[in-house]
Amino acid sequence: MESHINWYHNVMSLVRNWYMIQTAAVDPQARKMEFDDELMGQLIRFVSSHEVGHTLGLRHNFGSSSTVPTEKLRDKAWVEANGHTPSIMDYARFNYIAQPEDNIAQKGLFPRIGDYDTWAIEWGYRWHPEAKNADQEVALLNKITIDKLKNHVYGGEMAKVIAMIQEARRKI
Ligand SMILES: [Zn+2]
Repeated sequence: MESHINWYHNVMSLVRNWYMIQTAAVDPQARKMEFDDELMGQLIRFVSSHEVGHTLGLRHNFGSSSTVPTEKLRDKAWVEANGHTPSIMDYARFNYIAQPEDNIAQKGLFPRIGDYDTWAIEWGYRWHPEAKNADQEVALLNKITIDKLKNHVYGGEMAKVIAMIQEARRKI
């Protein structure tokens, strides 16, 4: 297998403009036309991480950011620890909800490889020697998915949806 990521010439201008417009109120480093190399490197890392996700088979996950309560986007400790979206494959861009008085560092402003991404890669790539054939592996992966959705990735609302699906299946 082989894949390529094409990086067109003005992606750097694009991500600079996004970061400036969305975070300059919070991050003084975003208030100049030419960013420092360290910041540009982090911006390139953000975009390239997303693109590498595609090469590994991940699709866009536009739902992940909806799982983060809006008030958490201004909660310094929480957003710096967890990020503002559970997936780099979302189009969540930067945390533009943060306000200057929140004193949120760059790590609370940037998308990052998140819980959804690590779970999706594990789902797709982890070897399950206990599954002796494809049917057993599908059943195992379904169980892993249901357990994960109940407890983590999408929180309580998804648990209700799963319970409804399981109830509907029992009636069939
Ligand atoms: Zn994409």
